Amino acid sequence: MATWSCMSRCGACCYLNPAERPELETYLSPSELEHYYSLVGADGWCIHYQKETRTCGIYEQRPSFCRVTPDNFESRYGVPPSEFHEFAIDCCCDHIASLYGEESGEMLRYLDLVEGED
Ligand code: SF4
Ligand code: SF4
Repeated sequence: MATWSCMSRCGACCYLNPAERPELETYLSPSELEHYYSLVGADGWCIHYQKETRTCGIYEQRPSFCRVTPDNFESRYGVPPSEFHEFAIDCCCDHIASLYGEESGEMLRYLDLVEGED
């Protein structure tokens, strides 16, 4: 089974444009939703995203909704811990495909990363 992992120099999930996230209200509380909107920059990227390095500028203090953990995914999305890896990998692939493309180097690098940990 593939094991979820975050890939360095990706950042695809930091593109927060609400137009790309039509179901925000279903997994964010009203205060989190307000926080989320406050992070969206004019170009759709998170204001804390550092484009040169593709890293988070507030990594240790990033919001709960940015944290990929079995507990978080269970409480937000109702994903049982046994399905965490598969679900989280699908989420990353969706973000990577929409940002960089299905056939991008980023996608190939990500699949190598998660499938290489069998
Ligand atoms: S899309 Fe996935 S791999 Fe890319 S930065 Fe976000 S969590 Fe990491
Ligand atoms: S706070 Fe950090 S991890 Fe969360 S979207 Fe912004 S740059 Fe990405």
